[in-house]
Amino acid sequence: MSDQAIRDYVEANRERFVEELKEFLRIPSVSTDPVNAGEVRRCAEWLASHLRGIGLETVEVHATPGHPIVYAEYMGAVGKPTLLLYGHYDVQPPDPLELWLTPPFEPDVRDNKIFARGATDDKGQLFAHIKGIETLLALTGELPVNIKLLIEGEEEVGSKNLDAWIEANKERLASEAVIISDSPMFAPGLPSITYGLRGLAYLEMTVRGPGHDLHSGLYGGGVPNPINELGRIIAKLHDEDGRIAVPGFYDAVRELESDEREAFARLPFTEEGFIAETGVVGLTGETGFTTLERIWARPTLDFNGIWGGFTGAGAKTVLPSTASAKFSCRLVADQNPDKIAALVRDYVRSIAPEYVEISVELHHGGSPVITERDSRAVQAALRALKKSWDVDPVFVRGGGSIPVVATFSEVLGVPTVLVGFGLDDDRLHSPNEKFNLENFYAGITTSAFLWNELV
Ligand SMILES: [Zn+2]
Repeated sequence: MSDQAIRDYVEANRERFVEELKEFLRIPSVSTDPVNAGEVRRCAEWLASHLRGIGLETVEVHATPGHPIVYAEYMGAVGKPTLLLYGHYDVQPPDPLELWLTPPFEPDVRDNKIFARGATDDKGQLFAHIKGIETLLALTGELPVNIKLLIEGEEEVGSKNLDAWIEANKERLASEAVIISDSPMFAPGLPSITYGLRGLAYLEMTVRGPGHDLHSGLYGGGVPNPINELGRIIAKLHDEDGRIAVPGFYDAVRELESDEREAFARLPFTEEGFIAETGVVGLTGETGFTTLERIWARPTLDFNGIWGGFTGAGAKTVLPSTASAKFSCRLVADQNPDKIAALVRDYVRSIAPEYVEISVELHHGGSPVITERDSRAVQAALRALKKSWDVDPVFVRGGGSIPVVATFSEVLGVPTVLVGFGLDDDRLHSPNEKFNLENFYAGITTSAFLWNELV
């Protein structure tokens, strides 16, 4: 089937696609509040019946201890590759309601944008794929590859029951790669493939000095002060070049390749813009790396909270018995959160003075992920995006984590390709969330082209 046939079908059905998206957006599938469980379930059922309606025969709604998972598959492409599409149908709470120009669950089209809770995150982006699949089924009666759809209802509440479901359905979910559209493009009109995400090791340390709080006049100068010692330890965790001073910390870091650095440098990004966006006076970070390299491809160790002693109004002359801090390490391929936690713990113990007690605990961790840019799935996405947007797509990475991507990598052993159709100004999780309809339509053709390119 020709590319033109795909373009024509999407063009001819634009209005209906938007009306159907509106139906999807009208269901208030807010997953946080248990009182709302009925609406979340109704959304899962709506989605399942819509998937049957476009011609998918295997469509199931699976109960979990929380909200249901919608699973569908097309396995009619015998001998052809199998792909897994992941998305979520649940949404964030719409509060504060008074800041919405139109009600969050009454989708409104203004200025060629659709406004509603979930418009971009993730109903609109997910629905673009569903319409892409419909396009191929409607034009040819079949799909060029096998597709499995895994759509959860608990993404906005931490995907509590997803890992167990994936683990239990490992064989059934076997595939070559996972496709996810739940992220923004790097800039308007610039299709982007995210091929790397950072991982995380979240730690907490406590320094113990006196057995109880002491009077700073009677004892000060003669006993260790845990806050002073915690400050000294924190100061020794980075060197003058902004590098993390923990021995072995960088051993597993996959260094950036020269073509990656060139690609990042070509992106429409300026330090001035970044300064304005963050409200900082100036930038800092590891010497020898640009800002994008620092936030995408280099590990960090950042303190998130620190407490101890007296912080109330007025003055209290106290030497506290303990001082604590929470800190997080963002990790890059191929660092391992448990190993990093052990290295940090050993180093902190080695630099702590003998006259205090110190404990370092790992709260939780997540692995970094990287998808090879020359993999079949990434290359197919590249071609599909180019055809659809008529612009060369860019390769980007993400500084944060998407835990399900690590699960796909660890449990299923498959890489994930993140192809976002959103924009930075979509206001996801905020009032007046929107999705540009041009991105919706281009997302649909991208999806249809993508499955064809994967044969
Ligand atoms: Zn999302």
